[in-house]
Amino acid sequence: MTAKILFLDEIELSVQAREHLERMGSIATAVNPSQVALSSMVSDAIALIFQLSPLHITSWVMDAAPNLKVIGRIGIGTEQIDISAARARDIAVVNAAGAQASAVADHALGLMLCLARKIVQGDTALRSGQWPTPASLVGHDLTQKTLGVIGFGAIGRALASRVRSFDMSVLAFDPYISPERIAALGGAPSDLPTLLASSDYISIHVPLTSETTKLIGREELRYVSPDAYVINTSRGSVVDEAGLIEMLQHGEIAGAGLDVFENEPLASDSPLLQMNNVVLTPHIGGWTVEAQAKTREMVAEDVARVLGGLDPLRPVTA
Ligand code: NAD
Repeated sequence: MTAKILFLDEIELSVQAREHLERMGSIATAVNPSQVALSSMVSDAIALIFQLSPLHITSWVMDAAPNLKVIGRIGIGTEQIDISAARARDIAVVNAAGAQASAVADHALGLMLCLARKIVQGDTALRSGQWPTPASLVGHDLTQKTLGVIGFGAIGRALASRVRSFDMSVLAFDPYISPERIAALGGAPSDLPTLLASSDYISIHVPLTSETTKLIGREELRYVSPDAYVINTSRGSVVDEAGLIEMLQHGEIAGAGLDVFENEPLASDSPLLQMNNVVLTPHIGGWTVEAQAKTREMVAEDVARVLGGLDPLRPVTA
């Protein structure tokens, strides 16, 4: 049997990256197989690579893949992969850590600006033939406001460094980074309730794990000031979406900028689509030409490294 590198999405690799991988095995692509079909396809796979596929790489899939050496996520989030099952089977997991930090930070900042200056409402009004009074679209300065960053990793820090030029102060909550390190990176370390209660803009940048699922639940949302905005470009399930919707409807939170949702694609009957105090984008935070090219190359490089017997540069271990 030929060693197979199985892609679960149609992914355009650079010629160089493709050549790297083809030296290690033959590339096959199966777009969106069923979970059952996937298990039979992986029997001769040495590597499994996916980007947008909704499939879950479970212990069951891994047990059906006795030759599997590496799973590559062409992206950052690895919540679809059972990492501990992979570790137990000596299967490396790699992603493109950091590759999308600039892109997502830019996007989060874009959502903040849209909310602060009602840019989308202005655009919508003009397209529907209106010329609203400026007073009806009066916004806020970002200068002198406080940004609360939840998760002070690559994206959280990139956003913090951007808003410094707006003269904003930055609170950061990240229990995995020491307060000294947070301060050295330009944030003021904070506990979560204080951050939620004291920030004008709250931007979420944690990975989705069992610990961060509904990290921002109804109880946490109650700390948020009615004048504050919540921005989420991480994963929808980190926030209690129903709770957020209720608070937005009741004016208990000023607005939200959301790139990610509990269920994607967002249902066409979601109340979010009817609210003019939210700005919504379809999970495109990491989608710039530059970030996507870097993401594909990093993952192809690391998969090739593992298949060549080297340690990956960006192993995912938790
Ligand atoms: P990162 O690993 O560099 O940073 C994540 C940070 O979250 C880490 O510093 C970690 O210590 C912290 N963290 C973990 N658990 C926490 C908790 N319970 N409370 C507070 N902090 C916690 O990752 P990153 O590159 O900054 O990406 C963050 C997330 O953004 C990714 O996991 C992914 O889900 C999401 N993302 C979204 C898009 C998009 O298109 N919208 C693109 C890329 C990444």
